[in-house]
Amino acid sequence: MNGPLAAHVEAAIETATHAGGATPADVAIRLERVVKTYGDGEVAVHALRGIDLEIEAGQFVVVLGPSGSGKTTLMNLIGGIEPPTSGRITVAGRELTTLDDRALTAYRRAEVGFIFQFFNLVPTLTALENVALVAELVGDRGPESSLAALRAVGLDDRADHFPGAMSGGEQQRVAIARALVKRPTILLCDEPTGSLDLETGRQVLSALHRTSRTSGRTVVLVTHNSAIAGMADRVLRMGSGELLEDRLQPQPIAPEEVTW
Ligand code: ADP
Ligand code: MG
Repeated sequence: MNGPLAAHVEAAIETATHAGGATPADVAIRLERVVKTYGDGEVAVHALRGIDLEIEAGQFVVVLGPSGSGKTTLMNLIGGIEPPTSGRITVAGRELTTLDDRALTAYRRAEVGFIFQFFNLVPTLTALENVALVAELVGDRGPESSLAALRAVGLDDRADHFPGAMSGGEQQRVAIARALVKRPTILLCDEPTGSLDLETGRQVLSALHRTSRTSGRTVVLVTHNSAIAGMADRVLRMGSGELLEDRLQPQPIAPEEVTW
């Protein structure tokens, strides 16, 4: 279908989906009764005990909780790295639990950007080459998009530097550029400032915040550092595999104001 009729139908769908309230299209991530248990019998570890959660597209969500509360497990399940023991996970309209290995790999490549505590850059490649490696993986050749991703985190002037010649905060921003170059729908950050001091940590938080605000990308940031929660649109608190708290923050502080 094309021409005026197609345009008309599209307009009608637009109107219908923006008529009010959260529509399925506004929900980037949906978890329904998600359980993750490692091992079984007496040695079973209940990492997630039935999580129900909807995260809106474009939200900057901070997940707090002590070590062992299930934060990393939650990220791994949303990112399609591990399957849930039971329950359903839907991201960007795809129900992960129905995907086969090949489709899951495609999902991770196309939709998900991961950022971890340790940056895992290739030490023998420059900042630009580290980003370009991932760009090539998703079929994007040529340096333009990799340079643009470095620019988005304020590092285009460091493109030719090797990781060993960069600060921890700069390396983490290269890791963010590497995640962004895939243009993922969601960005999953697991303790991204865990090994950084306040000043470099703020630079990383600013870079993440900017990508959420300028691209409408959904960002889920996991941390045990409750000071970071101030900049979130929404704060979730986990404990012993359960969601203990879920609150919206209509007026989050700027990443530059975060302090610890
Ligand atoms: P957090 O990130 O909040 O520290 P995790 O999600 O890493 O918590 O872990 C939640 C619980 O699940 C912990 O008790 C942890 O020991 C356990 N766990 C995590 N991964 C595994 C695994 N691969 N095998 C067995 N137990 C695990
Ligand atoms: Mg963890």
